[in-house]
Amino acid sequence: MTALLEVIDLKKHFPIRGGFLGGVTAHVYAVDGVSFSIEKGETLSLVGESGCGKSTVGKALLRLFDLTSGQVVLDGKRIDDMQPATLRPMRRRMQVVFQDPFSSLNPRMRVKDILAEPIRNFGLAKNSRDLDDRLAKLMDKVQLPRDAINRWPHEFSGGQRQRIGIARALAAEPDLIICDEAVSALDVSVKAQIVNLLQDLQKELGLALLFISHDLAIVEHMTHRVAVMYLGKIVEVAKKRDLFAAPKHPYTQALLSAVPVPEPGAARQRVILKGDVPSPINPPKGCRFHTRCPYAFDRCRTEEPPLRALAGGHLAACHLHDRPDAENPLAGEAGKAVLPA
Ligand code: SF4
Repeated sequence: MTALLEVIDLKKHFPIRGGFLGGVTAHVYAVDGVSFSIEKGETLSLVGESGCGKSTVGKALLRLFDLTSGQVVLDGKRIDDMQPATLRPMRRRMQVVFQDPFSSLNPRMRVKDILAEPIRNFGLAKNSRDLDDRLAKLMDKVQLPRDAINRWPHEFSGGQRQRIGIARALAAEPDLIICDEAVSALDVSVKAQIVNLLQDLQKELGLALLFISHDLAIVEHMTHRVAVMYLGKIVEVAKKRDLFAAPKHPYTQALLSAVPVPEPGAARQRVILKGDVPSPINPPKGCRFHTRCPYAFDRCRTEEPPLRALAGGHLAACHLHDRPDAENPLAGEAGKAVLPA
């Protein structure tokens, strides 16, 4: 199957300027060689602690800034080096829903104009009647009353605003929506409603979703596959069930150990990581996780582990998987140590 989106060795290094002449003194290695793909109609979640580079990946895909290097291929066409005129129709196909529903909508525009803007920009409506028809259908799709279209953003709750943000993304008729912490700012009950809405829309419209989130409990509920990021790199990729059942990277194991288990009486064995995430200005040599990894050994401090294929299409970047199973705490069923007892 051909991927809808393919990201190949994406890097984004932000220069830091300083000194007497304002020259580049260092770089923030925000994203440092990230590769993944998303199929049509699939949800891939990009997860990790704050500052791991996951939102920078989303912004790089939207070409909100130039890439340092790497390729972004949308439906077989490279878009990372496209000129603005050629990029324009491709932009329509990849839309975004941002985290903060209070700042992502222009307070001086009525909902009608917010939703009409992408339709006009991409020349999608045949005439004004078609435009009105599209606007009414968008309100239906996000389950808001049609007559609310003449209201201003401040007249809506956070959850309703996020529905408007989703309607604005849908207005461009995209193939892929990047949801950048799209439910993180919402109350728990509203969060569930918005996630359910996204899932319904995905089924109805065949949308692909890149769901960027630090919230693994939400991710477990709604994704097909998960990519785990740590300090600018992807350290593990797997189908949701495989990743949650038996993680193959010590960082994923620690992240999952903090996710509450729904069954009463069940508990996960908590893995507490020592120290903070190192600075992306000066990431550790070798495995970037070695300063916090409970299993680190000599090789980890000097040699960077590649993301390599394990059984069942599971990918993980950890030297432990070069060891015999008996010496690998994450081999086989061992990752289930973090599962409910
Ligand atoms: Fe830990 Fe070494 Fe694996 Fe990195 S390569 S996750 S330090 S065991």
